[in-house]
Amino acid sequence: MNPQDYPPDVRELIDCLSRMPGTGRRTAERLALWFLLRAGENAPRIAQAITRAVENTATCSNCGFFAPRGELCAACSDPTRDSSIICVVEYATDVLPIERSGSFRGLYHCLGGKISPLDGILPEHLSIDPLVHRVKNHPDCEVILAVGNDVEGEATALYLTDCLAEFPCRISRLAQGMPAGAGLSQADAITVMHALNGRVSLR
Ligand SMILES: [Zn+2]
Repeated sequence: MNPQDYPPDVRELIDCLSRMPGTGRRTAERLALWFLLRAGENAPRIAQAITRAVENTATCSNCGFFAPRGELCAACSDPTRDSSIICVVEYATDVLPIERSGSFRGLYHCLGGKISPLDGILPEHLSIDPLVHRVKNHPDCEVILAVGNDVEGEATALYLTDCLAEFPCRISRLAQGMPAGAGLSQADAITVMHALNGRVSLR
């Protein structure tokens, strides 16, 4: 005699939920029961929200931030933004702390990471060529390197400065005050604002 268990569809739901980060088997079971017994009309709404967000979201072809599929992101399609300043960040999620600081009205460029040979991440794995292409089209722009101030971040900043050497663009680096060794995601809005306003010109 097999021991009693949830019906197959519920077991599948538990299995799917347990694959989410930070969600163990017990939490997945608790969530599944909430969907079954308490969520009511929220259950199909949540399922639909997941499907729509995943299917309809891609990266902006200009800067690499999240955007509706086939469209530019809100910043790149906003004519009131200052397109003469490009803030270069490691990850798309680094854009949000800068936006929330309210102190930046330029555009972004998301590299997709930072140079880290030990982890197998080389320049060709990052969105560096598209950045060079953007600067080539606006050679008088300012490029703010808002990559982390850890070893890999510094190496990335150095590499990018080299790549942009042939253009007359100004290049600056976020001011000190950012958490040492940490990325933008750990910084509060005031710190980001000071780091942006006190950015240091690299040339
Ligand atoms: Zn964009």
